[in-house]
Amino acid sequence: MFVSENLNVNEKGHLTIGGADTVELAAEYGTPLYVMDEQTVRSACRRFNDSIGKFYGGKGLACYASKAFSCLEMCRIVASEGMGLDAVSIGELYTAVKAGFPMEKVGFHGNNKTDEELNYAVECGVGHIIVDNISELIRLENIAAEKNAVPHIMLRIKPGIDAHTHDFIKTGQIDSKFGFALETGEAFEAVKQAIECKNVKLMGVHCHIGSQIFDIAPFEEAAKVMLEFIAKVKNELNYEIEGLNLGGGFGIKYLNEHDPAPFETYMERVSETVKSECEKLGIAQPFIYIEPGRSIAAPAGITLYKVGARKEIPNIRTYVSIDGSMADSPRYILYKSEYEAIVANKANEERSERVTIAGKCCESGDLIGENMPLQHAESGDIIAVCATGAYNYSMSSNYNRLQKPAVVFVNNGESRVAVKRETLDDIIRNDM
Ligand SMILES: *Cc1c(COP(=O)(O)O)cnc(C)c1O
Repeated sequence: MFVSENLNVNEKGHLTIGGADTVELAAEYGTPLYVMDEQTVRSACRRFNDSIGKFYGGKGLACYASKAFSCLEMCRIVASEGMGLDAVSIGELYTAVKAGFPMEKVGFHGNNKTDEELNYAVECGVGHIIVDNISELIRLENIAAEKNAVPHIMLRIKPGIDAHTHDFIKTGQIDSKFGFALETGEAFEAVKQAIECKNVKLMGVHCHIGSQIFDIAPFEEAAKVMLEFIAKVKNELNYEIEGLNLGGGFGIKYLNEHDPAPFETYMERVSETVKSECEKLGIAQPFIYIEPGRSIAAPAGITLYKVGARKEIPNIRTYVSIDGSMADSPRYILYKSEYEAIVANKANEERSERVTIAGKCCESGDLIGENMPLQHAESGDIIAVCATGAYNYSMSSNYNRLQKPAVVFVNNGESRVAVKRETLDDIIRNDM
């Protein structure tokens, strides 16, 4: 009935998530409120792990891309499922360290890592660093030499795949700030240089072709291109690259009409492609890494808001204003992203109108969505915006000096705070 499987309606006609009544959650913890369903996170992790086991003999590791949603509790949950983790900043690394994440299962990303970040990554013993450019390689080599360390690295490659997605989130093509280009020979030169470095060990190549991708074909294409590259390195440089990181970007259902391929199908087809290509190219089957972010966090989450003003502009549109904004839900203003919304205390009722849900920031584009089918919403109602577990809390800001909402985890009807709501004192905490 709803876009995410963890949503239901109870006997009061209230929307539930993971068995918890959302109207009660809003009353108990206040709004806006991020709610994450633990079991949805866990089952997504298991599906990735199980499908690597089933279709690729377990010779792989799924690393949760924590930029989608990172906090101590999320790191603990992901760690307890045996997943790896992908961090893109010192802040995400620090969160993983503080959560007790096994750092040998952590990869460190970024197109412009600072020396501070590289130092920290080496010190905390991350499993591998995904090197984006030559200046980073040289800096890392020097940092590692000073510490007498030999960090494992992968090189980020642009495989030149157009994944037919939003321009902002297309990263595999040549005009991208991420990685080394294949076509120009830049990637091959980088491999040569990395092999010569004494204080790093080149153990893999990495690609990430975009985000919110529904098709499997672009992933298969990317795998082929990368394997050909591994074969070229083996044949021409006599060097065996053991790891192949195929990135993340698996699409999820934001609207009922979205139809992403299930992970199992992805893993089955990509495994088949990898096995047959390796045989054709005469190379060993690599250890595979994947980096799902959105597909683990997004379907687990919803955001709850309280309705304030309702403004009907005859023959134009109706604005339903909520107590949140682009500060906690930035994806509409960034990407015109679409969501399903439900009046949580009227979840059994028909969606009888189409409205624009507006935030409270001083910015006309501050909307959750336009032309959204919704139950008749009035002041005091609770609105749930669905599938907001990824790239909402993690992209939130204090614009307009708004306090960031709390994050609550629910688990089989029970709830607990994972991140406290910011206070007014938090707002001026660093002011002098
Ligand atoms: C953002 C990102 C991911 C995760 O992407 P999702 O679309 O959230 O799955 C994985 N790998 C890299 C390198 C990324 O930049």
